[in-house]
Amino acid sequence: MSHLSANEKTAVRAALRQERERLLAALKSALEESGQTQYAEVLGRASGDSSDEALAVTLGDLSAARVEHELRALKAIDAAKGRVEEAGFGLCEECDARIPVARLIANPAATRCVKCQDHFEHTFAGQAHASF
Ligand SMILES: [Zn+2]
Repeated sequence: MSHLSANEKTAVRAALRQERERLLAALKSALEESGQTQYAEVLGRASGDSSDEALAVTLGDLSAARVEHELRALKAIDAAKGRVEEAGFGLCEECDARIPVARLIANPAATRCVKCQDHFEHTFAGQAHASF
């Protein structure tokens, strides 16, 4: 069982939805500004949850640097949406500590507790291209 109550899960789901909409809007305007209107149109049609996968496939090979960050965040959000119902949702992937619900609402794609996230960022900061 997840440590989150039904109400807390509802709040996290709402946060995920909001974050997803924000990212979609950011992606759309970045695509429009860069003239990639064919992708912007796909995003415009992709409101609602049913087209998640089609969207990911369509955008999967999109490599424009400007949208990469949003795209990655969007995928993290979609992955988190799939995890909400799982038993381990809300547990730190490093140390199994319970991630406070306030953190999950503020950052619904979080997979680590604050302590492990700090450690991760200090350890891997600036080493994004290192192989390990
Ligand atoms: Zn942890």
